[in-house]
Amino acid sequence: MSVFEHSAFDDHEKVLFATDPATGLKAILAVHSTARGPAVGGCRMWTYPSSVEALTDVLRLSQGMSYKNIMADLPIGGGKSVIMRPQGEFDREALFEAFGRALESLNGQYISAEDVGVSPADMVAARRTTRHVVGLPDGTGDPSPITAKGVFLGIQACVERGLGKADMNGVRIAVQGATGHVGSYLCRHLAEAGADLFLADIKAEPLAELARELGATIVSDPDEIYDVDADVFAPCALGAVINPSTIGRLKVKIVAGAANNQLETRDMGQALMDRGILYAPDYVINAGGIINVMGELDSRFDAKWVEGKLLTLKQTLGEIIDAAASEGRPANLAADQLARERLADAAQARKKAA
Ligand code: NAD
Repeated sequence: MSVFEHSAFDDHEKVLFATDPATGLKAILAVHSTARGPAVGGCRMWTYPSSVEALTDVLRLSQGMSYKNIMADLPIGGGKSVIMRPQGEFDREALFEAFGRALESLNGQYISAEDVGVSPADMVAARRTTRHVVGLPDGTGDPSPITAKGVFLGIQACVERGLGKADMNGVRIAVQGATGHVGSYLCRHLAEAGADLFLADIKAEPLAELARELGATIVSDPDEIYDVDADVFAPCALGAVINPSTIGRLKVKIVAGAANNQLETRDMGQALMDRGILYAPDYVINAGGIINVMGELDSRFDAKWVEGKLLTLKQTLGEIIDAAASEGRPANLAADQLARERLADAAQARKKAA
């Protein structure tokens, strides 16, 4: 397995492979950039077929956090960690204590929160062996409402540009993952603003309840969400939903939602543009959660600061979309380039200050 030569290595500052045979821990902690401050990003626990897939996942996710954090102009860098889920029964608390020891060995260069497969209770276990965790139950709490607010504002910015409408009245929006943590809050914001909602989720009962509450239409087969005759598609469930088999089915003018890594590959951004579909780069529009987490790192980042940051997020998203349109290129590539430039500037500034 190559590491430095890996296509997603992208000059990571540090990659730590940590094992602890007593607890079954096999983890990779990736620090992509600390140019703006300690790297912050979640820890994911997943059943990976092998360490090759785990490495690819952590490197991509870690780079993505650098992009997300610098685009939100936060005083932190980007990192991520993955734990290869042990097979069979295992002592979860002991596993996360061992993960905490690995995290502690990075001396605060990387601060971890929860991601897929990891709960606030796991972070409490890790906290026994390291100071460098956030997302604790007595911390800033569930970031989803703030993520949803940011996505709502981002959709507004897209609707202004893609549909030439200053309000959301009558805008038809198809939400995938409607009953999820982010999806449900987003749907309520959208309904309150007068949008017509088409909702899909694999959880039938909560979906029926939400649709009743909001007077929304249910898309009975979740897979048919791609075919809905709507103005906006808001992916709030899985990654890679914009791919060669779904893209031709979309009838919308805008794709803007909370899910991470919505484009299966970067060239899907061009494919969306070719179809006249405006795309909101996911790591720009869904940064509300990480903005909220800042409150756990420093008390200066209070609720008022978070509110202001969400408005900046909307503005930044609008600027990226406008710049991409005037340059005739996809918004995801414009965002990637801007993120890379900002990271290079931050690295330069750190070098000068040293
Ligand atoms: P969640 O698990 O609470 O919600 C996901 C929802 O999608 C669930 O209701 C699930 O039933 C549904 N779903 C799963 N497969 C589906 C399918 N095939 N079709 C339709 N619905 C399906 O997760 P979440 O915390 O709401 O996060 C949603 C997305 O947003 C994820 O991609 C996550 O990485 C991203 N995200 C979340 C946050 C946050 O603050 N929670 C922040 C940034 C990004």
